[in-house]
Amino acid sequence: MTTTTTTAVDTHCPYCALQCGMRLAPADGPDGAPVQVLERPEFPVNRGALCGKGRTAAVPLAPGARLTAPLVRDGGTLREASWEEALDRVAAGLADAGRRHGRDAVGVFGGGGLTNEKAYLLGKFARVVLRTPNIDYNGRFCMSSAAAALKAAFGLDRGLPFPLADVARAKCVLLVGGNPAETMPPAVRYLRELRENGGRLIVVDPRRTRTAELADLHVQPVPGTDLALALGLLHLVIADGLLDEAFIAARTTGFEQVRAAAMAHWPERVERLTGVPVPVLREVAGRFARAATGIVLTARGAEQHSKGTDTVAAWIDLCLATGKAGRPGSGFGCLTGQGNGQGGREHGQKSDQLPGYRSLTDPAARAHVAAVWGVDPDTLPGPGRSAYELLDGLGQPGGVRALLLMGSNPVVSAPHATHVTARMKELDFLAVSDVVLSETAELADVVLPVAQWAEETGTVTNLEGRVLLREAALAPPEGVRTDLYVLRELAARLGVPDGFPEDPREVFEELRAASAGGPADYAGITYERVRAEDGVFWPCPAEDHPGTPRPFLDRFATPDGRARFAAVSHRPAAEEPDAEYPLWLTTGRVLAQYQSGAQTRRVPELARAAPGPFVELHPRLAQRLGVADGDRLTLTTRRGRATAPARITPGIRPDTVFMPFHWPGLGRANSLTHPALDPVSRMPEFKACAVRVERARDD
Ligand code: SF4
Repeated sequence: MTTTTTTAVDTHCPYCALQCGMRLAPADGPDGAPVQVLERPEFPVNRGALCGKGRTAAVPLAPGARLTAPLVRDGGTLREASWEEALDRVAAGLADAGRRHGRDAVGVFGGGGLTNEKAYLLGKFARVVLRTPNIDYNGRFCMSSAAAALKAAFGLDRGLPFPLADVARAKCVLLVGGNPAETMPPAVRYLRELRENGGRLIVVDPRRTRTAELADLHVQPVPGTDLALALGLLHLVIADGLLDEAFIAARTTGFEQVRAAAMAHWPERVERLTGVPVPVLREVAGRFARAATGIVLTARGAEQHSKGTDTVAAWIDLCLATGKAGRPGSGFGCLTGQGNGQGGREHGQKSDQLPGYRSLTDPAARAHVAAVWGVDPDTLPGPGRSAYELLDGLGQPGGVRALLLMGSNPVVSAPHATHVTARMKELDFLAVSDVVLSETAELADVVLPVAQWAEETGTVTNLEGRVLLREAALAPPEGVRTDLYVLRELAARLGVPDGFPEDPREVFEELRAASAGGPADYAGITYERVRAEDGVFWPCPAEDHPGTPRPFLDRFATPDGRARFAAVSHRPAAEEPDAEYPLWLTTGRVLAQYQSGAQTRRVPELARAAPGPFVELHPRLAQRLGVADGDRLTLTTRRGRATAPARITPGIRPDTVFMPFHWPGLGRANSLTHPALDPVSRMPEFKACAVRVERARDD
């Protein structure tokens, strides 16, 4: 491996959506890392702070920690192969399925960690080369509910329509279903500053997380009842005369229908549903509504439900009813999870969208993108299956028979993962492009070893909508190629020799043109500007445009400029506890691991800090089950089983157990989770299902 520079390179962490700035120095790091990760205090979002994942992010770059040769399956086992052979096999596998079963039988599955350039080119590859509608990505499991609700309410899905630093200046912040103290620790400084500035932090979470420990008030609802909670708060805002009538009249539409829905959620009913006492409901409603400025932030705890879109809509309604949106220091935002969770959903790897956040069903949008791509708009396929539906149909009649998967590990991260794994095995052909032999790559017919974050330049868009540049600091090891090279070579083999450049800058220039005039307009963003300005906020329609950190201050992005209330009502989770499965299961992340753990489980420092899964349960439940701390537990749902040691804590509700989802095998939490889908966003119900907990039989 060689460095491309002898000086330090400013870039960004490969993991979460905070996209912390960091500096890579050309010197050996710990555990074989070929570069050293240094702080970069001048980058405004994290101001030098890095969590353990970021500090150790260079370890997976070591040649010994990753794949450095393509693998092809022969006689049931994977063996090393040349790039020529591997790419020929992938092209043949995709073409063969298309020939035998039709274009819809070929699918693409992307990832929210892919750069904007890769996400863009992957979408183009699916629609121009494969001409299949069946492309979706793991961000469907992450952000889709918030995205749908944001689009409906504000006309634009910008996860945070303000810089994160605004959080520190609000008078009251309501954080619903998020735990940044573990998922993105440098962001916690804004919550601390909020409190130092006299603001109040209210955290809503069934668990007393590290973030909840920082709060002025921690509200612990029953899992899956955040929608009812928001409606109960709105009811009290209305009943107690705390509406911002002037804001509602001037900047919103649809409140009267919402008033009726909220009034049906009277406090005692909401207390019964959520387990949150009426006085606490009243305190939260009063504190938030009376604060001069306020922000509601949601994350996966509120969003990963079969009613996730309505849940986010209800929290947006609360903001609108109290006049806390589209004003300095106020607003609704969503804490995106994956590294390019925001940009990854803007440029065409979603099953229903074209680059620039354009709709695949809008004739004008199709015509614009088709012109950039040099194809007839009529040849562009329509919307395809959402992520879980695509995975559920793998190998089935009418489903996808050959799949190209890039930057995702659904064997660990998909809901009902036992079923998804079985479906993967039914594919006629599976190709995986990844940096390590992930649990999904282990099932592949061909595995393509690709470059990592520090080895290739590309843009990402952080949770604030700030477009950033990850700069290459070193060359990939011998035997490794980039994802863009893979797409170029496959396109050429499949009969499209042009339009798939390997140079990320060329791809970005095309992305700018494709996004121009669309909701996520990158036309004015250049690599040079991003470097010089430490990021540029979209929309940015021209090179002399300053970018848009706060897009809703004057008007919302709806046709009439007004935010739209959504009249929604409580509904139960797809599965609730009963006699056979008497407890709630909820899942999430821990500080030292990231997503499916494919990279972070291989980092020694992180593996020592978080070596495996566990089951968090309340002491009263532990006593009832006769379980001591560390005893092995078996969790059973209608979909599968998982086993992990008990971790007893009074911080969790007695009717709920929690399990992190980063590990495969017996401790795979997603063997248990429910694939019920939100009807709008197609988000699965990761965060609430019924479970039975017993001591493991071998104890
Ligand atoms: Fe990386 Fe996120 Fe940690 Fe920052 S908070 S160092 S972006 S994992």
